[in-house]
Amino acid sequence: MDKLYIVVPCYIEEEVLPETSKRLKAKMNQLIKAKKISPDSHVVFVNDGSKDKTWELISSYSEKDHLFGGINLSRNRGHQNALLAGLMTVKEDADMVISMDADLQDDIDAVDRFVDAYYAGNDIVYGVRSSRKKDTFFKRTTALAFYKLMSRMGVESVYNHADYRLMSKRALNALENFKEVNLFLRGIMPLIGFPSTVVEYERNERFAGESKYPLKKMLNFALDGITSFSVKPIRFITAIGFLISVISVIMFIYTIVRHVLGFTVAGWSSIIISLWFLGGVQILSIGVIGEYIGKIYMETKGRPRFIIENYIIHHTKSRK
Ligand code: UDP
Ligand code: MG
Repeated sequence: MDKLYIVVPCYIEEEVLPETSKRLKAKMNQLIKAKKISPDSHVVFVNDGSKDKTWELISSYSEKDHLFGGINLSRNRGHQNALLAGLMTVKEDADMVISMDADLQDDIDAVDRFVDAYYAGNDIVYGVRSSRKKDTFFKRTTALAFYKLMSRMGVESVYNHADYRLMSKRALNALENFKEVNLFLRGIMPLIGFPSTVVEYERNERFAGESKYPLKKMLNFALDGITSFSVKPIRFITAIGFLISVISVIMFIYTIVRHVLGFTVAGWSSIIISLWFLGGVQILSIGVIGEYIGKIYMETKGRPRFIIENYIIHHTKSRK
């Protein structure tokens, strides 16, 4: 029987943790009883610098029950980094790791099918939501636009897959070699390769508390996803530059012809228009190039992506 670890990033989740831990415990015990996973399997909560009672809750769970472990990050680093911290910490000990949100939006019952898919030989099992019926209209349309834009920009990603997935030890070891600071895990997954499959599940509404992904964070995340994986925006600018050069040649010929024919006074409006237009294009281009330079800047720093304050885990052959 292989060891399963479930990694749950938590940021200000004191309202949902009691319920989440209860349900995860039931699920783990059921899997252990069914002899699907080793009795030394664990649920590890990663506290992403929450200012509420999240860490107190996590450490009390781990004291009461060795099923639970906890990782406390030194400060808030965002969902993706918190998740990576969890994955890289439990990797040595686990045979398979499932990542899941704390708010019970990911259907815990899908875990059974994840584990089955793992034993069937898959290194990465993607949890894919079967529908978006329970989302608000806004979230649904923006999410769809996001996936469409991503694929247009040449970023491979699994449609409707967020960060609910299972990874084998082998896949996690491969993930460790991706050193990027601008972390967009779901874009890295297809690059790892290995046998993989998809498990569909129904995504629920948040159990309690509120989303930590307001519009601004969502847009930043989307922008990161595109600019971390693709040079297409730069190509696009090059194409526009090329097009404008062609147009300017035509304009040059047109101006000469008009001059020869004797209409010399006209042209003020076209000059002003092209002035504004070119100015706009230039600023836009500089902005996008700056985006990439910013990325290079961050990457060259090689800063740690997370710092662990403490890690609690109790290994016991026979759990209470
Ligand atoms: N999260 C985190 N750090 C953050 C923001 C969120 O660890 O800075 C966690 C959060 O606790 C949850 C998961 O990431 O377990 C997804 O966040 P949320 O449910 O707020 O996002 P949504 O489901 O609304 O996209
Ligand atoms: Mg959520």
